Amino acid sequence: MISSVKGGIGIRRFTFSSSKLKTMQIDSTKGSRENTDQTGSSRKWPQWAQALRNVAIHPEKYKDKVLQATDEAVVFPDLYPKGKKHVLVISRWDGLDRLADVGKEHLSLLQNMHKLGEDWITCFLNEDPSLIFRLGYHSVPSMRQLHLHVISQDFDSTCLKNAKHWNSFNSSFFQDSKKVLTELESHGKVTTCSKEEEARLLNSPLSCHRCKSIHKVITHLKDHIQKCTLPFPSELIPYTYSSSLSAY
Ligand code: AMP
Repeated sequence: MISSVKGGIGIRRFTFSSSKLKTMQIDSTKGSRENTDQTGSSRKWPQWAQALRNVAIHPEKYKDKVLQATDEAVVFPDLYPKGKKHVLVISRWDGLDRLADVGKEHLSLLQNMHKLGEDWITCFLNEDPSLIFRLGYHSVPSMRQLHLHVISQDFDSTCLKNAKHWNSFNSSFFQDSKKVLTELESHGKVTTCSKEEEARLLNSPLSCHRCKSIHKVITHLKDHIQKCTLPFPSELIPYTYSSSLSAY
């Protein structure tokens, strides 16, 4: 058994045993860089896009950074956080790289990943009750190995540098985890963006996520969001997590 690791916020831990790793879905010897989704279209992944997969295969190699590991998923800090708190819940299921690969058989996995994300939000809110969170997937991820973003909505980060960064978390390119679960339950699959839709969403005008005001450049938007005090949009409230909005 890998020993528990105590961290600052209480649930930094490994909860899997090394013997169980043998029965996991991931076969590290495969090292496949290509996969095919339900529509039959295949995608090749460049070397730099493998980092999260490496963590999922061998979380024990990243013990100093891994926040939590179960048989199904690893919770890992985003290396380039786009908010004060930004972690990834990475699935350990082999061959599951993006929402387009997900089928009904993965429903329980995605439910468990959602639950892990919620647990971490609870911890973060204990540390700082002023934060607001969302849980979701990028419709078309840049990194392979299905991962759920747990991200605070302050977007107070030097790593958030351009319109694509902003729009990837503040347009329908960011697919809310609860909506994904509902769609998967009723349709057995999740609809994701086409190439054209992806380009349109990521190049959209820069709009404040609270008051919807438009800003010409990312620096202006970042200045604005420090000051904007409008409540979070009502249509997003069922999908936001905070100590004052009860979304649980
Ligand atoms: P996505 O667009 O959903 O694939 O997002 C990938 C996320 O992984 C981004 O938020 C990146 O900041 C993050 N990232 C990139 N490289 C690493 C890494 N080596 N370790 C942890 N997170 C990373």
